[in-house]
Amino acid sequence: MAENLNLFTSTQEVIKKALQKLGYDEGMYELLKEPLRMLEVRIPVKMDNGQVKVFTGYRAQHNDAVGPTKGGVRFHPNVSEEEVKALSMWMTLKAGIVDLPYGGGKGGVICDPRQMSMGELERLSRGYVRATSQIVGPTKDIPAPDVFTNAQIMAWMMDEYSRMDEFNSPGFITGKPIVLGGSLGRDKATAQGVTIVIEEAAKRRNIDIKDARIVIQGFGNAGSFLAKFLSDLGAKVVGISDAYGALYDPEGLDIDYLLDRRDSFGTVTTLFENTISNKELLELECDILVPAAIENQLTAENAHRIKAGIVVEAANGPTTSEATKILNERGILLVPDVLASAGGVTVSYFEWVQNNQGYYWTEEEVNEKLLKKMVEAFDNVYTVATSRNIDMRLAAYMVGVRKTAEASRFRGWV
Ligand code: NAD
Repeated sequence: MAENLNLFTSTQEVIKKALQKLGYDEGMYELLKEPLRMLEVRIPVKMDNGQVKVFTGYRAQHNDAVGPTKGGVRFHPNVSEEEVKALSMWMTLKAGIVDLPYGGGKGGVICDPRQMSMGELERLSRGYVRATSQIVGPTKDIPAPDVFTNAQIMAWMMDEYSRMDEFNSPGFITGKPIVLGGSLGRDKATAQGVTIVIEEAAKRRNIDIKDARIVIQGFGNAGSFLAKFLSDLGAKVVGISDAYGALYDPEGLDIDYLLDRRDSFGTVTTLFENTISNKELLELECDILVPAAIENQLTAENAHRIKAGIVVEAANGPTTSEATKILNERGILLVPDVLASAGGVTVSYFEWVQNNQGYYWTEEEVNEKLLKKMVEAFDNVYTVATSRNIDMRLAAYMVGVRKTAEASRFRGWV
């Protein structure tokens, strides 16, 4: 709970600084420091044992001055109002950074899907859509998958909305199965986006990706695809980890082999004996370090010992604000999460565009468009950071919040 409050207040702090740098007054911060709308719902679900359990869910809409709000729905026991609010603000920033016609939204339900049957999950997913139906919709607020929600859950949600709407509404939600209007390339979009950002960061530091030694923390959806893309580019992935430990080989790990052996939770290190700890992994000798697991991994305690010249945040919130300061002072190029992991929402946007026009793109077309968006985004943030002599996180917040602030001003909201 305290961590969520921390996430919320630290997001507010950086937004405040970014607005000040952009020359906006206190009134704009007052508008953007919280979501415009926050709905709390109670969802009754008939469980398999015949009893009814009532779940609490949320949907936050940070700001819709630019366009409909957009963001995932997470199913997790630790979901809280503060977390959903903060994450909706992050979505505004991400959409602004990759220049999408969206504001930020986010949803969540307090539940543990690992303890629920498929039937219970289906009833909860449909219940969530019914409970939030007044404020969501293809031109209002478009949900997507997040922690512990997936393409099947998106399919149930889309079906429920379509039934209520009496229209087939594929544009209601993204991250759907391909046969229901999902986009090719969506499942690997985040890792693809991180890869593009890493290549751009390496260029700025005159590192040839083919000679680069890379360490990745986390071997789940984001980390494992990322390891694959980078090793396909010729980079040496010298370290990877999961929740149970880390693997290190200065000559480069065999990523195809590890991908083959990992389980669906992203666990692979338990199959090996010579493992090191996650703590040791982060401090390994390397050129590029990618935290792609969980939050608060780079802290005031270890930031002085990080040896990488570039840190790219594939995970959400892996670096504390104290560590951000230390890394910047040490001249390490820190590419922030709101920029590095924006590939997912970008291809979600492509999915929505394809749904709206009823015309579907090849995976090559999707990847080409993603490349263009991510390169432009990196370039914009990097230029703001260097020209203003500020860190990449503050620069990313400035780029991210600018469009929403301007649109709010034009609409006369402030
Ligand atoms: P995942 O659940 O698929 O994988 C998580 C990985 O981290 C696993 O390998 C797990 O073993 C490891 N891990 C868990 N706890 C750990 C710990 N204490 N120490 C070290 N490793 C640990 O998750 P994911 O989808 O790959 O997401 C990872 C991060 O990337 C999260 O912060 C997520 O918010 C962020 N992210 C993911 C996406 C996406 O599309 N998958 C998009 C944006 C941001």
